[in-house]
Amino acid sequence: MVTKYLFFTGGVVSSVGKGVTAAAIGRLLKERGFQVAVQKLDPYINVDPGTMSPYQHGEVYVLDDGAETDLDLGHYERFIDIRLNRSCNVTTGQVYAEVIGKERRGDYLGGTIQVIPHITNEIKRRIAAVSKATGAELVLVEVGGTVGDIEGLPFLEAIRQIRSDLGRENSAYIHVTWLPYIGATGELKTKPTQHSVRELRSIGISPDMIVARSDYPVDDSLREKIALFCDVEKRAVVPMVTTPILYEVPLLLEEAGVADFLIQRLGLTARREPDWTAWRKLVDEVRRPKQAVKIALVGKYVELHDAYMSVREAIKHAALYQGVEVELRWVHSAELEKGRGCDILESVDGIVVPGGFGSRGIEGKIQAARFAREKRVPYLGLCLGMQLMVVEFGRFILQDEETNSTEFDRTTPHPVIDLMPEQRDIADMGGTMRLGLYPCELQPGTIAAQAYGVPSVQERHRHRFEFNNGYRKAFQENGMRFSGLSPDNRLVEIAELEDHPFMVGTQFHPEFLSRPNRPHPLFSAFIHSACEHSGLIRPADSVTLSAEEP
Ligand code: GLN
Repeated sequence: MVTKYLFFTGGVVSSVGKGVTAAAIGRLLKERGFQVAVQKLDPYINVDPGTMSPYQHGEVYVLDDGAETDLDLGHYERFIDIRLNRSCNVTTGQVYAEVIGKERRGDYLGGTIQVIPHITNEIKRRIAAVSKATGAELVLVEVGGTVGDIEGLPFLEAIRQIRSDLGRENSAYIHVTWLPYIGATGELKTKPTQHSVRELRSIGISPDMIVARSDYPVDDSLREKIALFCDVEKRAVVPMVTTPILYEVPLLLEEAGVADFLIQRLGLTARREPDWTAWRKLVDEVRRPKQAVKIALVGKYVELHDAYMSVREAIKHAALYQGVEVELRWVHSAELEKGRGCDILESVDGIVVPGGFGSRGIEGKIQAARFAREKRVPYLGLCLGMQLMVVEFGRFILQDEETNSTEFDRTTPHPVIDLMPEQRDIADMGGTMRLGLYPCELQPGTIAAQAYGVPSVQERHRHRFEFNNGYRKAFQENGMRFSGLSPDNRLVEIAELEDHPFMVGTQFHPEFLSRPNRPHPLFSAFIHSACEHSGLIRPADSVTLSAEEP
């Protein structure tokens, strides 16, 4: 089958859930038996988000091949339950770097390099590369930002050209807009949507479908109005009212007939009937009132919840599987240093310390790890969270408060976490960490091995520092187990405490492989332990956790 494309653009304002919409539509298409992939085009000049502050950009999502990508790729992977690769996130920076590189090599034979056609051709080449790299027959392409942004123009021009290159039957355009609510008159307004569609038209793209996001129900007359003014079929105007249940979005879009319209529009017929039984059960389970387990998330970007998107989702998936609600308590690590927020730690059933970089708030995270160890509160440390659990334990057993990671104190007398040797000579910051999937062998008889239930796993990494092997023996003799190691035994991948119900830290980021229908085994084991801590389940009720790939 020739590859067909579905292009997603945004209108009116950003952050209305264009990524989730694309992800959910991807799921709808997969349910009909198609091989799908999703690509995000990001108009910023950075080569990737790897060097950006999470305040700017939210979480950096890491793929199997080590690509550092936009957090929307997390939505795509979780909703569709697929694994994407480097071809699926393209930025203006990558496009220009490639074209300028070619120019310097003399590949353009004296030509003048211009946005059209050189930049747009490179964008088109990268869009075409997705089906080759993933085997997808339907490629969903989300253009970041909103229509009207200057920096998004080359991407829009490229996707416009694709319609003439490949034909109408091989490309569809979905415009996701926002209907503002005017409190004074109590009505939703379609005018901004009309304007953004007009803007899109002025650059040659006529949307086939409009997904109208709104906080209030959209009635039929409003749909008719949008259809009329924006020249799309009425059944292609899809109201998407904000739902508190993220994973309900595919079901709502299914009900609205989105997939049937789109595949018909692309001249396709479904290969199988979609089966939403499991997904519906999942959403019903989210809706069911449940007892709550309280989890503290101790981070330094907590004002921006998007910075911990995958961690939050992974916690939710595991809680769902355990049949409990999570009450997430956001704790600012720098506040803990000032003695604030300690009461929150006292009130929770589990503590998660996620990944991070730089020294701000480090001592607060160490305090959280100390609290968890001393009070025997379940603790899950993710990358930096593992490193700081090691630092805290080091301070305790070595009886030296100057024990540290060399990331935060170059001259510490006890560098229990240190730069990996292969990182020593690296000067560039971008894309140079230990990134992507690496194997981890589980040591029998440990909490981690029991949680996973398999001898070895592959997990996604993003770090420069590691456990300093010079301290392995001393730590082991004092009650830390290295429950996950690289196959050559050189790298500590998972550390855990012997004399503790659940104090586990991973050098990798398990959160990236958690799925709503298949929670990550370590998150499941952590939530299970938190439930025991809270008294929601008695240790005797312990279930054997399994989270196998289907
Ligand atoms: N800053 C630490 C390192 O580079 C941890 C990174 C992380 O948490 N992803 O090793």
